[in-house]
Amino acid sequence: MKKVFTFLALVLTLSFFYITAYAFSQNIVLDGKRICYNGPDISITVDGNPFNTGDNPPLLIDGSTLVPARSVSEGLGADVKWDEGTQTVTVTKDKVFKFKIGSNNATVDGKNVTLQAPVRIINGGTSYVPIRFLFESLGYKVKWVDDKNLIQVTKIMPLPTMVAAKPAQVVNNVNIINFDKTEDNGTLTVSIKADGPIKYVKGDISNPDNYRVYFDLQNAVNQVSKERIDINVNGLKDVRIRQFNNDPAVTRVVFDMDHNIPYNVNTSADGKTLNISFNNMKPNTAIAENSPKPDSNNQTVPLATAPTFVSRGNERNPIPNKKIICIDPGHGGYDSGAVGNGLQEKDITLKLALKVRDLLKNSCNVILTRDSDSTSWDSRDTYTDLQSRCDIANNANADYFISIHVNCGPGTDGTGFESFYYRNAPQASKDLGQKIHDSLAAFYASKGFCDRGYKECGFYVLANTNMPATLIENLFINNPSDAKALSDDNFLNDLAGAIANALKNALNLP
Ligand SMILES: [Zn+2]
Repeated sequence: MKKVFTFLALVLTLSFFYITAYAFSQNIVLDGKRICYNGPDISITVDGNPFNTGDNPPLLIDGSTLVPARSVSEGLGADVKWDEGTQTVTVTKDKVFKFKIGSNNATVDGKNVTLQAPVRIINGGTSYVPIRFLFESLGYKVKWVDDKNLIQVTKIMPLPTMVAAKPAQVVNNVNIINFDKTEDNGTLTVSIKADGPIKYVKGDISNPDNYRVYFDLQNAVNQVSKERIDINVNGLKDVRIRQFNNDPAVTRVVFDMDHNIPYNVNTSADGKTLNISFNNMKPNTAIAENSPKPDSNNQTVPLATAPTFVSRGNERNPIPNKKIICIDPGHGGYDSGAVGNGLQEKDITLKLALKVRDLLKNSCNVILTRDSDSTSWDSRDTYTDLQSRCDIANNANADYFISIHVNCGPGTDGTGFESFYYRNAPQASKDLGQKIHDSLAAFYASKGFCDRGYKECGFYVLANTNMPATLIENLFINNPSDAKALSDDNFLNDLAGAIANALKNALNLP
């Protein structure tokens, strides 16, 4: 990782004198998770002059603008050091600032401060920090203009006044420090503890097949590493916690249910603990009989419970005893995926998925995570988006999951086909993916496209689906000759045929 970091730093230093417009739509690896980033063109000026962050443009992630720590710091004359062992970046200029990958706690001359958002690692080697923290720490004032796509930074004199003023803007946040469940004589209580009084706003989301109750904890920074507690009793499936928004800080706690289950909320006397309790939560109590949760042995059930399964005619009738394949057309809704040459990734992945479904309809039961441009979940929210896709496959008890994507590179010369397996997947899953890969690579070779390989990854949808799974990246949308093939319906028909055949062969489908 250090090598990559050093190399990037060199590239950044060399490219520092060039001014380019930021048009940044590509696959990036965010904290080890690959996402197709498609954000606004964010420009920065410092004292009226354009300020270029080189190959690592500012990114808008989870509502916060982040900038590459090294290129910005060095561009402002600060010294930057990276410690691989502790994953800490140290910036020195008048004062010493230390921040750690993944954390929103930093120190300024040894004094603790809370960042507006955690420090992220992009593409495995570049640390990104909230723009306001970095510039303000270095003695500048930050102002967003033009709907936040232009950020004007101006030097402040004197520096100490600015630093003294800084903690005031974060003083109201509380830290969420514990998230747990207890059971007492059939009453299940989920407790959330903070280091200060918790204020919350409650809401619910109702769908035909599931019901969610959420608590938005206000001015609350999530410090809990546990992301979910599985419950699976009497229709209460699980409870999840995560940072929902960074500025202002909102931590969201979500209860996933089959149906609307009554609960009680109370807060401890000091206000620091929020308890949400459910009665009659012993397994097999009377409530179970009222639960609409279907019989999991019934073949027709998985299709009916998939939240975004939309009937498109009688070809969707499930075939008893046939395997269930979940096809995930990457992106959709608000999330276009990568864009280039007049194409949007979400449109191509959907076209391919619909064609593959039609080709497989007599061989297996096919479910799609979406079968139109819209998604039933909030596609603006990366966690919700990716988890919803996994939920559909998991709830359907699918035998195989394939996620279809189109690649995008930093330059326009990336080309060819690659596919991925989850690094901790069982060997049997990796072997199935290899078969599918080899079969598709042969198809691509016949069309004159190269095989970029079958690669290990930590992608969310592969890590969080319960069945064997693979993710395929079909050509590069920002390469003109790859895009030409992707916009040709004959090519897409052939590719869909190749994907269907690859699945049939690997999974022994009739
Ligand atoms: Zn994609």
